[in-house]
Amino acid sequence: MSLRPLHLLGSPILRQRSAEVGKVDDDVRALIADLFDTMRAAKGVGLAANQIGVARRVAVVEADGQPAVVLVNPVVVGREGADRDEEGCLSIPDVFGEVERAARVVVEATDEHGALRRIEGAGLFARAIQHEIDHLDGILFLDRVGPLKRRLLLREWERSRKGQTGYLKSLAADGAAPA
Ligand SMILES: [Zn+2]
Repeated sequence: MSLRPLHLLGSPILRQRSAEVGKVDDDVRALIADLFDTMRAAKGVGLAANQIGVARRVAVVEADGQPAVVLVNPVVVGREGADRDEEGCLSIPDVFGEVERAARVVVEATDEHGALRRIEGAGLFARAIQHEIDHLDGILFLDRVGPLKRRLLLREWERSRKGQTGYLKSLAADGAAPA
């Protein structure tokens, strides 16, 4: 079990486009395991590698009672409909806003064994997948709420920081880690 500190809004890696993964090797599998451990400890429904400081195109999603999915080099190959709902992000704790997303998506991604898989989803599951793929492109949900709301949410974020500096959040120090 390996929990990694979360990178918070302000950390430059969150704004970087992450690099494609060439081969799914033991390093990538270790990264995937850390993503699952950290996501579950933080009670999230998805986590992208740059949120734990690794700028590679790897993310995990576990949402809405669907089986957990591994997304290496994910590509959206189909989208349908539109859906507005509230969204948050482990990298911007305590800040939530409504975001419009495709209601259903089809994604092609490599799994932890190096096999190409086709994943279809709707609802919260589809929303989480789209949110995580955005992370891999350096995009945050704040970029999709409109300029006015964005300004409000950024102010909320600054207030919630209570003058704290630094952009790493250790889950263990937070008491969120299992005993
Ligand atoms: Zn996020």
